[in-house]
Amino acid sequence: MVEAKLLRKEQLRITYIGHATLLLEFGDIRILTDPNFDEKLGYFLPRVTPPGMRIAELPRIDAILLTHAHADHLSFRSLRALPSDIPVYAPLTIVRWLHRERIPNARPITSGQIIHVSRIAIEATTARHTGARYGIDRWRSIAYMYLLDDGISSVLFTGDTAITPAASTLARRVLPRRVDVALLPIGDAPWWKRSLFRRGHLTSEDALSLFDQINARIFVPFHWGTFRHVTSGAYDAIRVLRALLTKYHRASDVRILAPGESLVLEASRQ
Ligand SMILES: [Zn+2]
Ligand SMILES: [Zn+2]
Repeated sequence: MVEAKLLRKEQLRITYIGHATLLLEFGDIRILTDPNFDEKLGYFLPRVTPPGMRIAELPRIDAILLTHAHADHLSFRSLRALPSDIPVYAPLTIVRWLHRERIPNARPITSGQIIHVSRIAIEATTARHTGARYGIDRWRSIAYMYLLDDGISSVLFTGDTAITPAASTLARRVLPRRVDVALLPIGDAPWWKRSLFRRGHLTSEDALSLFDQINARIFVPFHWGTFRHVTSGAYDAIRVLRALLTKYHRASDVRILAPGESLVLEASRQ
């Protein structure tokens, strides 16, 4: 259990709950990203691994960050099942939707704005991804990535994105330190869909390129091992990533967490 082992202030723990749901613990301050504990996506894409922690097992959460409106990142059911007093930060158009859907604690954050959750500064910037849930709802296209920094440890959570200079621009905010953990999604697409896919997503190879650009200490991949996708299996992208790592120059800095696994880092000395 997470609460059994309390962290020191300078320790950072990342727990991969599944898909884009990660528990980020900066000492005793806890942030949950894109919570989705659902058994399937839509009507036909099954969850292949149970959530690494159930909602009832979660420790006290200080804030939730939402990146965009796609169903795999925005689950109304999961948000309603979480304690309603947790602030939920999201782009304004999504906040309006959440309020209509009786999720009252949603609060807007704009690109470039920095909000504080206790001692953690959180900055949002726009990702390269079209986040409209149904395609026609273009007013909900915005997708964010977030940098979290408590002055000791820092995490860059990109949500869904293609390769974009916005990620390394955001990472440079912590200079002269380096971002401790880059949380980047990995995906796979068949050849006929690949170039379209890469306009809004990272293949495993793209994720390694973006990790090189960000120059974080550690890369933890997410968006795998959880749901079946429309044109790929839940494990295709991680299989490709593992193969690439046999030749990748920083393979020991890539930490693959299966759903339910955690990683604890001490503060950077660099
Ligand atoms: Zn998406
Ligand atoms: Zn996604």
